[in-house]
Formats: sequence, structure tokens, C-alpha cells
Amino acid sequence: MTLVRDRLFIGGRWVAPAGKGYIEVMDPSTGTVHARIPEGTPADAEAAIAAARAAFDAWSRTPVAERVGYIERIAAGMTARSDEFAQAIACEVGMPIRLAARVQVGGPLWHWHHHAELAREFEWERRIGNSLVVREAIGVVAAITPWNFPLNQITLKVAPALLAGCTVVLKPSEVAPINAFILAEIIEAAELPAGVFNLVTGYGPVVGEVLASDPRVDMVSFTGSTRAGRRVAELAAPTVKKVALELGGKSAAVVLDDADLAAAVKGTVSSCLLNSGQTCSAHTRLLVPRARLDEAAQLAAAAVSAMKLGPALAEDSRLGPLVSAAQRERVRDYIRRGVAEGARLACGGAEPPAGLGDGYFVQPTVLVCEDSGATVAQEEIFGPVLVVLPHDGDEDAIRIANDSLYGLGGGVWSGSEERALAVARRIRTGQVDINGAAWNPRAPFGGYKQSGLGRENGTYGLDEFLEYKSIQLRQVG
Ligand code: NAD
Repeated sequence: MTLVRDRLFIGGRWVAPAGKGYIEVMDPSTGTVHARIPEGTPADAEAAIAAARAAFDAWSRTPVAERVGYIERIAAGMTARSDEFAQAIACEVGMPIRLAARVQVGGPLWHWHHHAELAREFEWERRIGNSLVVREAIGVVAAITPWNFPLNQITLKVAPALLAGCTVVLKPSEVAPINAFILAEIIEAAELPAGVFNLVTGYGPVVGEVLASDPRVDMVSFTGSTRAGRRVAELAAPTVKKVALELGGKSAAVVLDDADLAAAVKGTVSSCLLNSGQTCSAHTRLLVPRARLDEAAQLAAAAVSAMKLGPALAEDSRLGPLVSAAQRERVRDYIRRGVAEGARLACGGAEPPAGLGDGYFVQPTVLVCEDSGATVAQEEIFGPVLVVLPHDGDEDAIRIANDSLYGLGGGVWSGSEERALAVARRIRTGQVDINGAAWNPRAPFGGYKQSGLGRENGTYGLDEFLEYKSIQLRQVG
């Protein structure tokens, strides 16, 4: 049965969209229509901006403790509906449901709770000499988000923006929007003042571009492709609004010659294949000592082949489909191109896997590639494809890792923490994990180079939504 959402959340109410168009949301495991949502128009975007603008003055002046109260209520509402979120995200993104519950829902829930704590320890003002430096909300925020970790990306914008005292217009990905509707219902139930949070669905070049250009919007926080991020920054420039961008990546895991190769390959395969490779900071290039290239390729092929490919709602699936037919075709083209340019297939390939019906499945693939300038070694594939490359020592590995337009994540594997740290310091990316160290949701996340501008997570994320104001004090008399 197709899920139908036919209203947008604007000014504290569910309203009929200005146009009659709708967008079909596909279930990637089956290739069938899962839901329908409104195809928002510029008029809807403008109505949401007007509502957010009107609500800003009062909301930005509410005491922090009051805003924390709302955030706690939203967090409680999300906890109560966490199974529904997992189900929705499994059906619209295609991530296996048990994994989706842990990663796609557990992560965002942690962040909402953490924002309530953060508010208490954050330095909202300080004295410096004769000045009182205060932090104030930047204004109306447009949040434009992608489909791959949809609730997490929404959370990392909406939670800090609300805590900062900003009002928000959210345009979620049209590919995976149902989780955003559930969140809007939770926010409505938390009785946030009208206009503080608004939801408008639709296509990026229509709704997203109005949000990026409108002079009443003070900041655009965008996560998505580098191509669309560049466009958002261009549109935001004439009105000099702040732009935060979380964009693509082509992260390298650098394996030094004293590393435990089996552990390095296993850890890198897990990072690469999370969410079927549709993770911006996935380690998609594995750089190994040249003498161990074949051994690394065999280990990677064995690790990949052990992962059970299947529909998101099947309990035993470890790897789901890609999000859309278009994404599947893009990834298959990259695999073909890699082989045409001289890479060797260690496992997988461009042919569809057998026995999985009409879902958007791609065989998880390992390509061994001697040329670090090849297309598959340079471009973000955004699918279950690991590229294994040889290096000739630490300097060469650092050079190859940094030979990228992107600068989002990466890893270093070594028997010596000191040596790994020395290499990590020279990798030009926003995150580097040593020997598969755990993800830290309090640490800043974001990109160098064309992977973006600004940071998300914890205090660092909150900072982005705040201005500094210096008030110079002078005693009278
Ligand atoms: P996308 O750029 O196609 O879309 C992202 C969002 O931008 C969507 O809401 C879309 O409707 C909107 N959009 C598209 N064109 C627009 C335009 N011209 N103006 C305004 N908005 C527009 O990206 P996607 O396919 O949804 O997501 C995949 C990309 O996101 C990958 O490149 C991935 O690396 C990146 N990503 C980055 C991070 C990060 O934190 N760095 C996280 C997740 C995904």
C-alpha cells in the first residue's frame, strides 16, 4: 500500500501545497512505489520562509533553558517512534532494518539528547577586557539534506539551529523524505511555537534554489553532492548569507608496511560498504604496500563476498540495494569504466546479482587499480566499490591519499601509533581514524578542499548557527 503525505508543515500547521504535483518515493529493495509526497513549489518555499522570518524574533529571545525543554520533548517523541523511523528509512534508503535502527535512528537520537546536555556546558557569553562577547542566533536557516543518512543529516542541522535560537525551513531529500514527515509530526506534538520549524518537500533546483537565494534566509546549511553545493553557494553569494557545506568524499585508508593487513582490510571493507557504499566519508580507496597488493585484494574479496546481499526488511541482510535505479546505473557504469581503464576485478562486477528481483542491487565489487589517476580512483562512486591501490612507502601513500579534490575522511593502519599519527597529521582531510578507531559523535565532522565548509557535531556544529556580538562596556560616572 502506498503511503500518502499530501501536506506541508508551514507556520505551525499542515497546509495544502500551492501546486498539485507530487513525487513518488521508491522502495529500492523492490523497485516499487513506497510513498507519495507533495512536489513543493517556489510559493511553498516562500510561505515557509515568511513563517520562519516572522517567528525568529520571539524564538531567538527565548531563554536557552526553554529551548532545551523543547529539544528534550522532541528527543522523547523520537524515542517513542524509533521503530517507525527505522521502518521508514529501511523502505526509502534500503539499508537493512537492524542496521538502520542502530545507525540511522540510534545516531540521531543520541544527538538530540546530547544537544540538551550541550546547552548546559556551552559558553553562551564571556567577558574579554571591557567587552561582553555574546553568542546570538544567526537567523532564519534553510536546511537542505540528502537521502543517504537522512534523519542524521536533518538532525545535525535542525537540533543545533533550534538550540541556537534560529528558525528553520527544512527541505529534505525527495528520495527519502518520510522520516522528515515523522520528525515534523513529533515537532508539532512538542508544541514548538508556530513558524519555528517548517517542512517543505520538493526538488532541489526548484524549492532548494529559492531557499538558497531568498534574502530573508540568513544561512543555508547544505549536505549533498559537491555539484549541488557549488550551486547553492553561488545562489547564496549575492545576499552574502552564511553557507555551510557537507559534500562528497573519496577517502583513503592508508596501510603502512608494519600494519596488521587482515585487520586493515576487514575494517576498510566495513567502512566502504556501510549503507552499500553510500556514505560520504566511506573509506573507498585502500592503499597497501605494493608487495602486498595481491594479498590485500584476496582478503578484500573474501570479506566482501561474506556479506549477505538482500532486501532491507529481511533480517539476515547485511548489504541492501542502492537507493535508486539512477544510482545503480551510475555505479555499474563506474565499474565498467574502471575495467576499461585497466583495473582488475578481484570480485563483483557490473552485472546485476542473481535472484534479487527488481530491487536496485549491485554486486559489491573490489577493483585492483595500479593507476591512482584512474577515474575510479579519483571520483566519488557512491556505491559498494572498493578500489585497492599500491603505494611505495609512507611518503608515496601520503601523496596518493592527498591526490584528490576531496578532503573528508580517511584512515591510517600501522603497528606504531606514533608512526600512524605522523601520517594522519599529513592527510588533508577533516577526519582520520587510526587502526579502525571508533566514530566519535562529539568530534567535529566536515571537509577540507571540495568536501565542504564548516563542521557538524556537538559544540562545533552548534557554533555554526551562532554569531558573535561584542558589547563594549563603560561604567557611567
Ligand atoms: P544531491 O546534491 O543530489 O541532493 C542533496 C539535496 O540537495 C537534496 O535535498 C536535493 O533536492 C538538493 N538539491 C539538489 N540540487 C539542488 C540545487 N540546485 N539547489 C538546491 N538544492 C539542491 O545529493 P544526494 O544525491 O541527495 O546525496 C549524495 C551526495 O551527498 C554524495 O555526494 C555524498 O557524498 C554527499 N553527502 C555528504 C555528506 C557529508 O557530510 N559530507 C553526508 C552525506 C552525503
